[in-house]
Amino acid sequence: MSSNSGIQIPSRLPLLLTHEGVLLPGSTMRISVETARNMHLVKNRLLKGTSLKSTIIGVIPNTRDPEYDTEDLPTLHRVSFGKDDYVFPRLILFCNYRSLISIGTAGLAVQVVGSNWPKPHYTLLITGLCRFRVAQLLKEGPFPVAEVEQLDKLEQYTSPEEMSEAAGPDGELGELSQRFYQAAVQLVGMLDMSVPVVAKLRRLLDSLPRETLPDVLASMIHTSNNEKLQVLDAVSLEERFKKTLPLLTRQIEGLKLLQKTRKPRLDDDKRVKAFACGVLPGRQFSLDEEGDDEDGDDTAVLERKVKGANMPEPALRVCLKELKRLKKMPQSMPEYALTRNYLDLMVELPWSKSTTDCLDIHAARVLLDSDHYAMEKLKRRVLEYLAVRQLKSTLKGPILCFVGPPGVGKTSVGRSIARTLGREFHRIALGGVCDQSDIRGHRRTYVGSMPGRIINGLKTVGVNNPVFLLDEVDKLGKSLQGDPASALLEVLDPEQNHSFTDHYLNVAFDLSQVLFIATANSTATIPPALLDRMEVLQVQGYTQEEKVEIAHRHLIPHQLEQHGLTPQQLQIPQDTTQDIISKYTREAGVRSLERKIGAICRAVAVKVAEGHNVTKSEAAPAESAPQGAEHGGRKTKEPDGVSADMAAPPDMPIVIDHIALKDILGPHVFEMEVSERLTLPGVAVGLAWTPLGGEIMFVEASRMEGEGQLTLTGQLGDVMKESAHLAMSWLRSNAKTYQLTNLVGGSDPLEGTDIHLHFPAGAVTKDGPSAGVTMVTVLASLFSGRLVRSDVAMTGEITLRGLVLPVGGIKDKVLAAHRAGVKRVIIPKRNEKDLEEIPANVRKELDFVTASNLDEVLNAAFDGGFPGMSNPLTLPHIVSKL
Ligand code: ADP
Repeated sequence: MSSNSGIQIPSRLPLLLTHEGVLLPGSTMRISVETARNMHLVKNRLLKGTSLKSTIIGVIPNTRDPEYDTEDLPTLHRVSFGKDDYVFPRLILFCNYRSLISIGTAGLAVQVVGSNWPKPHYTLLITGLCRFRVAQLLKEGPFPVAEVEQLDKLEQYTSPEEMSEAAGPDGELGELSQRFYQAAVQLVGMLDMSVPVVAKLRRLLDSLPRETLPDVLASMIHTSNNEKLQVLDAVSLEERFKKTLPLLTRQIEGLKLLQKTRKPRLDDDKRVKAFACGVLPGRQFSLDEEGDDEDGDDTAVLERKVKGANMPEPALRVCLKELKRLKKMPQSMPEYALTRNYLDLMVELPWSKSTTDCLDIHAARVLLDSDHYAMEKLKRRVLEYLAVRQLKSTLKGPILCFVGPPGVGKTSVGRSIARTLGREFHRIALGGVCDQSDIRGHRRTYVGSMPGRIINGLKTVGVNNPVFLLDEVDKLGKSLQGDPASALLEVLDPEQNHSFTDHYLNVAFDLSQVLFIATANSTATIPPALLDRMEVLQVQGYTQEEKVEIAHRHLIPHQLEQHGLTPQQLQIPQDTTQDIISKYTREAGVRSLERKIGAICRAVAVKVAEGHNVTKSEAAPAESAPQGAEHGGRKTKEPDGVSADMAAPPDMPIVIDHIALKDILGPHVFEMEVSERLTLPGVAVGLAWTPLGGEIMFVEASRMEGEGQLTLTGQLGDVMKESAHLAMSWLRSNAKTYQLTNLVGGSDPLEGTDIHLHFPAGAVTKDGPSAGVTMVTVLASLFSGRLVRSDVAMTGEITLRGLVLPVGGIKDKVLAAHRAGVKRVIIPKRNEKDLEEIPANVRKELDFVTASNLDEVLNAAFDGGFPGMSNPLTLPHIVSKL
């Protein structure tokens, strides 16, 4: 194009030597000027010059290319521009080997900015014009000036139409430039057109002469300095196209790869959309249409999700408002992420997604029975509850709350209820929650704010009618951050929970379809207002026999499966289970029992995995083999203790006998027999109730010379301390009748004597009146010097007049006594009715003495009765072996 020929660069150019990259014709670059030589150039030439020509300088890039490494040159060939200068190999090459060319770019200094901080320097904005070759270095200081030869002949530029004609007969250059042009169009097409620069670039592609494209694109795409240098060195147009085309293709491939990795996310979005909108064919079609603009930005995708989430009107309004705000926010703003997270949560919540209940009472009964052994009362009540629900199909009514010691199956019944209804199950642990925002969420103004556990649970299950198990409601705490129990009240109240407002969401969510079930260890610490909304179902501890059954029907098969074992590989006979229960666990539920069985499975799994499928010596069932024979027949013993006979056929199961048990679980944990503790006067066994079930408690007393003081230890509460004083007073007032004496022989037990009463375990706080009878018995034993019967345990409140009043927790206490091997249990007469709850087999093995006064208690607690009974003929009422 002849019009371009007007621009001729001066034949003498000052040279700017730069490390900061490669300036290509057609591109603009910022260069920092710091060296003395370059600073001179700027000051003397650019800032003083007045004509346009004086603002044209030659930019020579330094390469750091090993190919041009100055170290290879003989030092004598080096050209020094002064000690503060870099060595410029390309120029050196030129200076010393005239056969080698040194090519630079003539550039127009568009802008010069000076600054004194941190040190004096200039920043130049330079636009590349054309290539030049240094013909001769004219002077070196204060800045180099060279005679140059313009390489990009300006008349070479032609319009795209003229190009093909100019490309010669074979049209190779034309073809090359056409390929290059197409690749460039493809590349720009892959970029986001909504960005203004990209749109401008697309227009430029068509308007720029094609010869300029290699330089323009090479300076834009991702290329190393060396690659740019090669493009700069490519003086012939054909070579330049050839050098740049692979770079362009590489960039296109890179972009394709990037889009491929982004693709699954977009697919995901589509899937979510399809899910949220159901599979209505019409809708499906529109979704497919939407899929075409995958490149649409994130907010557009989010907007579609918001609209497809089926949320109620108020929530939708809030979301659209937030979305509008989001669109105006720059992504770097911290609030952007907050709003984005909020909208993501809103979209994910199951506003109108629910499962269909498939309740069949008969099937529910079968399922509950097959999942759980015993607990008849609870199962019956649960079935009633479900039946009412089926008939009424509304959920209004009290919330079920299972109360009982740990490991008795409360959670597991909750899970079964969800299964019978075909609903999702989610457990929300409330133990230790003392901040109401745990339930109701934090307001969004807080840093790190998040929704509460209810909304989080709904997000997890993805439906709005799950079964939520509120675990351990009795362990809710209270703190300055508000009372979580009151927040829970709103959740549970059917009158309010259809518009439950989480602080984070700030819009109402309907919880009325959620089925809430609560669990607790004791009702004592459940906040009264909460307790009022719930129907309490007591879940009792299990007897030894029930535990054995549960172990064999449920726990062992479950643990075998968990450890990848089969009954053909591991067998645990009933005797062994009984041993585990009585010697390694002491609990009302079956949780540690399950853990111990798990430990056995692990030990056996190691053996099986090692290929030592070993068995007990005689390969006989453990229960039928006499112990002596087991020992005699044992030939080898594995290091970890699983009894083994290497000669046994490989398909024999490993049977856990009591020796293998001891090897795996270690020495017995609970071995001390009650009788071993009762070898001195002043000890008796009381029965206590704790949220973890019943327990036996050894109450001890001792006396020493003193001034009549009564010392009580064992972290006792006020009620218990009062009981101790009551017991003491009653004995003092009846000392004569019972012939009780003190250390010095007088009839007042306290005269010249100090008494100490202790309740183990010392670290556990105890309270309640039910240890009254035990204290009287202990003191009576101490003052009379007689031993309390070694097989008796007792519970009951006392009065000053010697009456025995009823107490609570009889079933748990009796079961604990039975676990501990006690034979006779003394209970208040008015508790006789509670004995019906005790399983028949336990009742059979125990003597129950129901006492209405302390005479009867003492008479039953000591062998042969207690001397001095007010009426020796009134024998305590023994309801033994009912
Ligand atoms: P909780 O919630 O009362 O503390 P879990 O429900 O977690 O107790 O029960 C602990 C384990 O004991 C579970 O594996 C459960 O299946 C099992 N379990 C408890 N009671 C029974 C029972 N009656 N029948 C079968 N398994 C039971």
